[in-house]
Amino acid sequence: MLAAAVLGAVLTGCGTGSPGPGSGAGSGEGSGTEARRSPSAPVPSTSATAPPSPTPVPTVAAGPGGLTPVFERARKSAGGEKVVALTFDADMTADQGPRAARGEHFDNPELIASLRKWKVPSTVFMTGRWAEEYPDQARSIGTDPLFEIANHSYSHHAFSSPCYGLPTVEPKAMKADVDRAFAAFAKAGATNVVPYFRFPGGCYDDRALRSLGPAKVTAVQWDVVSGDAFATNADAVAEQVLAGVKPGSLVVMHCTRSAAPTTEKALRRVVPELRKRGYRFVKVSDLIARR
Ligand SMILES: [Zn+2]
Repeated sequence: MLAAAVLGAVLTGCGTGSPGPGSGAGSGEGSGTEARRSPSAPVPSTSATAPPSPTPVPTVAAGPGGLTPVFERARKSAGGEKVVALTFDADMTADQGPRAARGEHFDNPELIASLRKWKVPSTVFMTGRWAEEYPDQARSIGTDPLFEIANHSYSHHAFSSPCYGLPTVEPKAMKADVDRAFAAFAKAGATNVVPYFRFPGGCYDDRALRSLGPAKVTAVQWDVVSGDAFATNADAVAEQVLAGVKPGSLVVMHCTRSAAPTTEKALRRVVPELRKRGYRFVKVSDLIARR
């Protein structure tokens, strides 16, 4: 049935497979970091009493011709410290409003509450449509220093094709789709917004990297797939994460009860076990800063 097929496409298109069919060609991880303000950061006042600028958010330098840089994991670990970044895709596709109205939950407040209880800093890759549906949660996440909100597009459509059956965004509309998500975060009142972007499904090619150059975002992939989308066995998800994490790893999970119902339960094992192994949880911005 169509609804099931679309549901499958959407969540499959969110990091359940290998790290995406994107070519990865282009700038790779770039070199050196540069400081840019978050897109939501206030414009500095010209007044002599202006407050200090916000802390710069680390980004990866753009590639040749302004090509969007891609970050996957930290290759080195400063001082030998073992760090890992858990990331959560808050998926909602542009046309899923009617399903939310019928009671389907694309959010996962229990997951966020547990991350707070366990004091696990995390990065939430949110779609603009999700922020529109759950503005209170977007503001709550986006004003809590434990979290940072990154961009997962407005529409959750694909930026290269094929991509798990997702509808495709035309290159000329790509930057506008990303900008629209940042606008939705700002409208919700989120302030901890970072200029990072996760391609829906992790699907990208050189054309997408070129088209998004003017958006001045760092594309963020992952090296550990949790397999939490549509999972019914939390232990299997936990095992997959624990088997995959290395120092500097970036793990992709989901923040949506609708199609990733076991994520919080899996983390009840993952979090204490990784801490027992000596890992510290960090946000993507911290991982990029130390790469
Ligand atoms: Zn997604």
